[in-house]
Amino acid sequence: MFDTILIANRGEIACRVIRSARSMGLRTVAVYSDADALALHVALADEAVHIGGPRPADSYLRAERIIAAAIETGAQAIHPGYGFLSENPDFVEAVEAAGLTFIGPSARAIRAMGLKDAAKALMDKAGVPVVPGYMGPNQDPAHLQTQADAIGYPVLIKAVAGGGGKGMRLVERAADFADALASAQGEAATAFGNAAVLIEKYIQQPRHIEVQVFGDGTHALHLFERDCSLQRRHQKVIEEAPAPGMTDAMRAAMGEAAVRAAEAIGYKGAGTVEFIVDGAQGLRPDGFWFMEMNTRLQVEHPVTEEITGVDLVEWQIRVAAGESLPSRQEDLTIRGHAFEARLYAEDVPAGFLPATGTLDHLAFPEGARIESGVRQGDTISPWYDPMIAKIVVHGPTRAVALARLSAALAATQVAGSVTNLDFLGALARHPGFATGQVDTGLIGRDLSALTAPPALRRETVALAALTALGVAPGQGFTLWTPLWQAVTLHRGDTVHRCAVARTGAGWTVRVDDTDLAAEHRGGQWWIAGHRAPGVALRLGATVSVFGATTVHFTLPDPLARDQDQGAGAGVVLAPMPGLVKAVFVAPGAVVEKGARLAILEAMKMEHTLTAGRDGTVAEVLAAAGQQVEAGAALIALADE
Ligand code: ADP
Ligand code: ADP
Ligand code: MG
Repeated sequence: MFDTILIANRGEIACRVIRSARSMGLRTVAVYSDADALALHVALADEAVHIGGPRPADSYLRAERIIAAAIETGAQAIHPGYGFLSENPDFVEAVEAAGLTFIGPSARAIRAMGLKDAAKALMDKAGVPVVPGYMGPNQDPAHLQTQADAIGYPVLIKAVAGGGGKGMRLVERAADFADALASAQGEAATAFGNAAVLIEKYIQQPRHIEVQVFGDGTHALHLFERDCSLQRRHQKVIEEAPAPGMTDAMRAAMGEAAVRAAEAIGYKGAGTVEFIVDGAQGLRPDGFWFMEMNTRLQVEHPVTEEITGVDLVEWQIRVAAGESLPSRQEDLTIRGHAFEARLYAEDVPAGFLPATGTLDHLAFPEGARIESGVRQGDTISPWYDPMIAKIVVHGPTRAVALARLSAALAATQVAGSVTNLDFLGALARHPGFATGQVDTGLIGRDLSALTAPPALRRETVALAALTALGVAPGQGFTLWTPLWQAVTLHRGDTVHRCAVARTGAGWTVRVDDTDLAAEHRGGQWWIAGHRAPGVALRLGATVSVFGATTVHFTLPDPLARDQDQGAGAGVVLAPMPGLVKAVFVAPGAVVEKGARLAILEAMKMEHTLTAGRDGTVAEVLAAAGQQVEAGAALIALADE
């Protein structure tokens, strides 16, 4: 066994590998770019080596630099994680040439599966069912068109070197083929430096079901399937294991085909054989076809770990160190059901654009397995994949696991960056998903419902108003007088005018002219008789309410406040903490808009507070000589 391993990756997968290595008593070495000097994976490792600039080409893809770092630090083996150098056979050869061990398959096995056309031909020969189509070398457009016509539309054009859904085009009609081919080839040439494509029959109502395999270079076994049908633009969003509706006969057939695929290439380590299944035909032992093999640990491997109890990273390290298969096939069983949701910093309304930001607040629920490479206060930089975390849950049945996923998503709190959290929550509540009616078109069909901004509840605004005004349970209750304090909350272009007053044992919260009773008991807020729709947090000028959906409000610039909303609400507020120097009116006084009402001294300057509209003074809530907090109500005009 090794005593030190280097992890040639970053983010959550680097942290994941470090955790297992450490539990095996190994020393770990991290590598990092300029952008990651303070990253979690660097903090977790026993040692860390700086390898270059933030661009992947200047750091995480620098094979020679990473190998040198391993030698410098006395590491005997390199774990590549996923992405970056993980499926690069030249890297594997360089690692071995340096006398180190690559924790993964051989260069030869990676090459065999590296191009989709060659992999399909190889699988076909090994007796594994492959998606019908053309995978020959003739790339002449006229020839490819003839092949597509013969296969029958719809067809899928795929880059042979493709990955991550790139270089792929669905063609519905013969007339659209030529244009789609040109654009797929163009994208493939740019992304992979290889314009070659293959053509496949497009499976209607497709389900993506993949099999986790594990080999020791000679023998292989499988750890059952994962269903990754919840996809958006061919990218996985929520994965689960086992696949809903899977039968014993089909599982046995798929597992056997996957093991045959792995043994055909002398596979060593963890790998995934991806199949496409025709959902319209139901799950049948003859209804699945090989798509591709990913010769690495997959992002969604935790759902397999949850149902089998196997630590796949530990297995990878043990087999790389020379052990044979750590288990027998017949000793592996499925226990319960697991889901994984991928939480990303992305702007869903803007079309799922990757986002950046500082995670001012980040909290995850107890009871869920969280795989993350970031902490509160960390920044999602523009350099790498904007994943924040994978939220993994397990339960005795699919229904229980799904309920746990919903609950875990609802209890996840992120402020400082936009995220896809609400989208994931909506998916977890999708009725078709709940009944296991999954196919890769589900998200696309229901996209507008899944991304619709949820109706904003008045109780949510009320909770935000209480939080904005610092009505913090347990502190300062008694300092509150039965006076209205006003605050304006902005959400996009919508403005909510709110005010809060102490009434009896509780508070009254006025939200856009509707009064709601609020009380705090049993450690939580109750608003209008119901438990508050989440928990709220104020960070600077932002108030976030975390619940089944996340709502962020912004507070306007305090200096703008007295002119602006105080006027509308008929309440004059202290724009900042200060000393009331003078009050010029008494209850009953009739004032005109712009009339001088009071003077507040703050920041060594005097601020004149004026009436925002014509009216009659109803209450004077402050007296000269009094120190007031920002946002305190000073003078209220009678309602009109
Ligand atoms: P699939 O290729 O079947 O979608 P996964 O969902 O496991 O497989 O992985 C998604 C892709 O994300 C990987 O193929 C890889 O290109 C990319 N990726 C993996 N790791 C990282 C990483 N650490 N940083 C950025 N991108 C990554
Ligand atoms: P990548 O290397 O980009 O992961 P894959 O070949 O694994 O490419 O395909 C990605 C996704 O595209 C699959 O998960 C599936 O949703 C869809 N897909 C692939 N092939 C087909 C097909 N023949 N019919 C229908 N959908 C397909
Ligand atoms: Mg794939």
